[in-house]
Amino acid sequence: MNVSDSEVIFAILAKAGYERTEDMAAADVILANTCSIRDNAEQRIWSRLELFAAQKKRRPEVLVGIVGCMAERLKEKLLDSRKVDIVAGPDAYRSLPALLEAAAPDNPQINVLLSREETYGDIMPLRTDRGGVSAFISIMRGCNNVCSYCVVPYTRGAERSRDPETILAEARDVYERGYKEVTLLGQNVDSYFWKSAAGNTDFADLLESVARIAPDLRVRYATSHPKDISDKLIETMGRYANICRCIHLPVQSGSDVMLEKMRRRYTREWYLDRVRKIREVMPDCAITTDVIAGFCGETEQDHQDTLGIMREVGYDYAYMFAYSERPGTLAARNYPDDIPPEVKNRRLTEIIDLQNELSLESNTRDVGKTFEVLVEGPSKRDPSDLCGRNSQNKMCVFPAPGDTDIRPGTYVTVRILSCTSATLLGELV
Ligand code: SF4
Repeated sequence: MNVSDSEVIFAILAKAGYERTEDMAAADVILANTCSIRDNAEQRIWSRLELFAAQKKRRPEVLVGIVGCMAERLKEKLLDSRKVDIVAGPDAYRSLPALLEAAAPDNPQINVLLSREETYGDIMPLRTDRGGVSAFISIMRGCNNVCSYCVVPYTRGAERSRDPETILAEARDVYERGYKEVTLLGQNVDSYFWKSAAGNTDFADLLESVARIAPDLRVRYATSHPKDISDKLIETMGRYANICRCIHLPVQSGSDVMLEKMRRRYTREWYLDRVRKIREVMPDCAITTDVIAGFCGETEQDHQDTLGIMREVGYDYAYMFAYSERPGTLAARNYPDDIPPEVKNRRLTEIIDLQNELSLESNTRDVGKTFEVLVEGPSKRDPSDLCGRNSQNKMCVFPAPGDTDIRPGTYVTVRILSCTSATLLGELV
């Protein structure tokens, strides 16, 4: 999501005459696009601000800006730190050229107004990836769910969907420029909805329209909410081979008591029913998830329920974190963060260990199979190997043929010969 936002910011600033540089020592303006989802993400930004302060000491005319969720959450507090000249929330990117124009080291500028309409739908993002293979397309902004632990509804505002015509135009544009994969992004894509005189468009309709642009354009999306993922969406995925067989379905906990407290608005049974439906329509679909260890009041039994659902689903991959209380959220206001750090960490370790086993089991089941792999480029570990992802979003590594040049963005068929818990290792067929 932040990559996609940064690309919108680059487009807005390029139109105002700014040029992008990654060389901080050459920059007149240093912007940090921030995330507030966990405390350590914010701590990293505070450390970066020290780095930026060193630049300002050498070159006092340099302007430093914090944009995105941390700007929205901390507002004037960032200016009070005296390390920042510009603060712009996620709905204020269009005002960045004006803020930069007005800002001076002794005249900081701030815009943290949230909007009910802003989607940046008319802005063609300036792509920052170097490979030119895979592009992110934002289809909506904000979230109306208010999960009790989550800061997003406060930092990114109310949910709003982007005009499907602008999304399709952006997807066609990247395809024409040689990209072979698009990922449609939203906090809760299942609640995407657009009403127009021509009729209503829900997420399944949108996904289908993007998939029909070209059979060799892969389509991914993130993130589904288990309470909202519909049979229509799952069945639409099943009808198109170019809609990737991978669903990120954050479970967060396997305990109904915790799910209720987290305000996730589904039960363990409901979640497992959605998994059954996915497997019925797409037996080869990877399912990945998010898990929080040590949420407020979590008992050993709740934790065991989380390990249990992980085993039952057999996740292919998971993002796993210890609960980090975020100021201002429902959980921070209503429940004590009462699980001692050593217990949280022990539970997180058990969750990570289990997921490593599950990932290895999942990859081991793929040994002997062949997959269509979209080549991303040389492998980081050994540049004589190539790497790319299959439809299930698993990284596949295989030796590059000596006689042919396989460019990033090419589809190849790979037979899997062995694996680790993170990677499938194979050979070209
Ligand atoms: S669905 Fe819940 S966890 Fe996801 S962004 Fe919205 S409030 Fe946060």
